[in-house]
Amino acid sequence: MHVPWRLVASWHCDACGACCREYRVRLRAYEYLKLKGTALVEERANRFYLKKIGKLCPFQKGYLCSLRDSKPVACKLYPFSILKKGDERALFEYEGEEFFVYVDDFCKNVKLKKDLKPSAEILKKIEEAIEIVLGKRVKLNLLTAKLVSETPEPRLLHRRRLMV
Ligand code: SF4
Ligand code: SF4
Repeated sequence: MHVPWRLVASWHCDACGACCREYRVRLRAYEYLKLKGTALVEERANRFYLKKIGKLCPFQKGYLCSLRDSKPVACKLYPFSILKKGDERALFEYEGEEFFVYVDDFCKNVKLKKDLKPSAEILKKIEEAIEIVLGKRVKLNLLTAKLVSETPEPRLLHRRRLMV
């Protein structure tokens, strides 16, 4: 279910990979053009998606994404959806422009609340998502799993760096 951002208390990614397994990734036009002619795209009702192999995204290695900052915008934004229309509780103003932001509570780390008071934690993450949508940012900072140790095992370092 997609809920207005004001009803979200917090969210973080722990690189579980569940969203990659659950969803089919819709591609933007320029993303489709890059992959056109390969076996990695499929068309459904005039929309283009990353083609799954079996039930898996071809870029998911174990739990992790092998594309890092090159992954499709839809993957970078997840669990956020940034829309041009929506209800008042989803309204988010960024540099004088209005967006409507929803959050998919399929992710187990989306924690909901009942009041509409903005959560400071979520505000910065939404700003980063909007900057990605506007093309002001490519690299993920807050919208991704974080290194939790200065000296992780090499295997864990690899895993944490790669995921959404
Ligand atoms: S966004 Fe959520 S579901 Fe997706 S990998 Fe991160 S924690 Fe898992
Ligand atoms: S984040 Fe990477 S592995 Fe996950 S669906 Fe997107 S491209 Fe595939």
